[in-house]
Amino acid sequence: MIKVENLSKKFNDNEVLKSISLQIQRGEVVSIIGPSGSGKTTLLRCLNLLETPSAGSLQINQVHVAFTGKAPSKKQKTDIRQYSGMVFQHFHLFPHKTVIENIIEAPLIAQKRDKREVIAEAEALLAKVGLLAHKDQYPEQLSGGQKQRAAIARILALKPDLLLFDEPTSALDPELVGEVLTVIQELAREGQTMVIVTHEMDFARDVSDRVIFIDGGHIVEQGKPEDIFTRPTEVRTQQFLQKVL
Ligand code: ADP
Repeated sequence: MIKVENLSKKFNDNEVLKSISLQIQRGEVVSIIGPSGSGKTTLLRCLNLLETPSAGSLQINQVHVAFTGKAPSKKQKTDIRQYSGMVFQHFHLFPHKTVIENIIEAPLIAQKRDKREVIAEAEALLAKVGLLAHKDQYPEQLSGGQKQRAAIARILALKPDLLLFDEPTSALDPELVGEVLTVIQELAREGQTMVIVTHEMDFARDVSDRVIFIDGGHIVEQGKPEDIFTRPTEVRTQQFLQKVL
């Protein structure tokens, strides 16, 4: 479903992703782990063209984009983003809209879908993430965990083939992390294709089909969670896991 080939990303002279190649199958849950500053978020953002890769190519479904250093066209961004949705560390909800208004905004305005149908779907999604009773509240009235669950429902309303999570729990108080992880786990059970940048190692181990360890802009090692977490073969992976486990 996703094919990344020799993807590099430079910020000025700083090459933060170095010829990354990667394929992800439909229904796969892939976690990206690694030290701070290793390029995890940049890689995730490149998959959604929130960053412009400096070289290499990206294919999602039938859409293929080759990078030459130039910014992708608006059409290329739209074509790639029709398949993917990103959940951010800091939620990015519209502060002046209620929870349900946040969720129906894009299906109504961008996708121009029928209002009654969109509202019914939004209510079903809110029930799924446990927020139906909060549908008319504003983001500032919600806890961090509730905001993140609303942000997930908002992305799900667009029915993306691919969900990208950028450290979805790292802005949350520890007692609120579990409620967000439970929602992501449920999506994994339903077969949603997901790429998750996370510092939650227990979660990565539980939810993922594959774990990718990145360091210094390289994929150092990848494999099944039990292999990466219990018998990593690379020294850098071993050293990282010793620090964080
Ligand atoms: P991680 O997610 O693994 O912590 P990032 O992808 O956020 O790492 O960052 C990788 C490197 O790229 C870091 O050295 C960071 O300072 C740099 N970087 C990230 N975003 C930018 C940016 N917009 N401009 C310049 N440098 C950036």
